[in-house]
Amino acid sequence: MKQRDLFKTSVLVAVAFLATLFVNASDPQKKTATDPEGVVPAEFPALPYGYDALEPYIDARTMEIHYDKHHRAYYTNFVNAVKGTANEKTSLKEIFANMSKNSDAVRNNGGGYYNHILFWENLGKGTSAPSRELTDAITSTFGSFDKFKETFNNAAKTRFGSGWAWLVLTPDKKLAIGSTPNQDNPLMDISPLKGTPILALDVWEHAYYLKYQNKRADYVDAFWSVVNWDEVNRRYAAALK
Ligand code: MN
Repeated sequence: MKQRDLFKTSVLVAVAFLATLFVNASDPQKKTATDPEGVVPAEFPALPYGYDALEPYIDARTMEIHYDKHHRAYYTNFVNAVKGTANEKTSLKEIFANMSKNSDAVRNNGGGYYNHILFWENLGKGTSAPSRELTDAITSTFGSFDKFKETFNNAAKTRFGSGWAWLVLTPDKKLAIGSTPNQDNPLMDISPLKGTPILALDVWEHAYYLKYQNKRADYVDAFWSVVNWDEVNRRYAAALK
């Protein structure tokens, strides 16, 4: 390669690289697996970290069984429930919005598949913190950050039997806290709590029993040590749009 051509190629590579940086920087709401616009994926999505990543708050054995047995079963059963039906090519968002017209298999396994995707991605261990934007909204809605946690904890601790606690952005763009039974979620038309999920907590016994046994409250308290606020902030900003 001539000196001149080499120079030209180098410049092109550098420009292409900078363009990539610019596109990523200008698109902070870049879609992740948590956006329900797509159809159920052809392959079971990987856990975004190792089984032991959330130790000691959530133990590796619980994570392994939870992801590889429970979540995988919801995924497989959901794939089988939509196979050969119109739902095979329908976005999760659409399926959830029309859940009242769907079977229990689609409701339980579709919810079970998607809720766990949300859950894995809003967990992590690091130094993330709630954004100023989210903190301000939390403070003005619940009075203080502590009051917000107390309200969320209460939703999680008092959900009778199996279910989920949620922080959502309601259709009129207000923060709200609530819980759903079984594998229902706030995107479903059958759910009294409606909105875009911002933060999810699984309170099924399978999520904590090996480590916490009957002490769900201890698990709920430990949850706050492993919230991935970067993802929660991203969801909030995306839902506001
Ligand atoms: Mn679960």
